[in-house]
Amino acid sequence: MAAGECVSVSSQSDTEEADLALERKSLSENIEFERDELAKIYEARGLTSHLASQVAEQLMLHDALGAHARDEIGIIEHSKARPIQAAFSSAATFTAGALLPLLVAWLVPPSLLITLVALLSLVFLAALGGLAARAGGVPVLRASVRVTFWGPWPWQSRPQLAVCLGLSLESGKTALKTESILACL
Ligand SMILES: [Zn+2]
Repeated sequence: MAAGECVSVSSQSDTEEADLALERKSLSENIEFERDELAKIYEARGLTSHLASQVAEQLMLHDALGAHARDEIGIIEHSKARPIQAAFSSAATFTAGALLPLLVAWLVPPSLLITLVALLSLVFLAALGGLAARAGGVPVLRASVRVTFWGPWPWQSRPQLAVCLGLSLESGKTALKTESILACL
């Protein structure tokens, strides 16, 4: 999960870097065009044409790339993609989230293991969804129901997906069959 998060956020970071490189190039080659572009953005947000030009001019004198990154591309310093930070927070979150079901697995008798771990995982999901909603100041019940409904979806859909993709799980071999994919469509 942490590696996946890192790859995903790295791609986002690469896209941001590429956008910034284009913007930097355009600023060095075509400053007039860039100033007009920024002024039009402020005008579209409600400033008069005159004021929009003044704001664009002053912000570009202060930090041209920063102004374009923020107001044209939408990159804000605190929302910038940070792959390593994302990987660590993902690892920490999933480890913390797995602790409760692991604790249940450790405490219950083997005969009840699967049933209790599955059921209590749903209860934990509902509770964590509610907790997150409370922290975020949104309706607790709705968030809790949503997390409990959508959270287990990957667990349920994984076996069907494997069948659809023609993955032979028992033999340990991964055989992808085109006809079984077509049959699922
Ligand atoms: Zn620009």
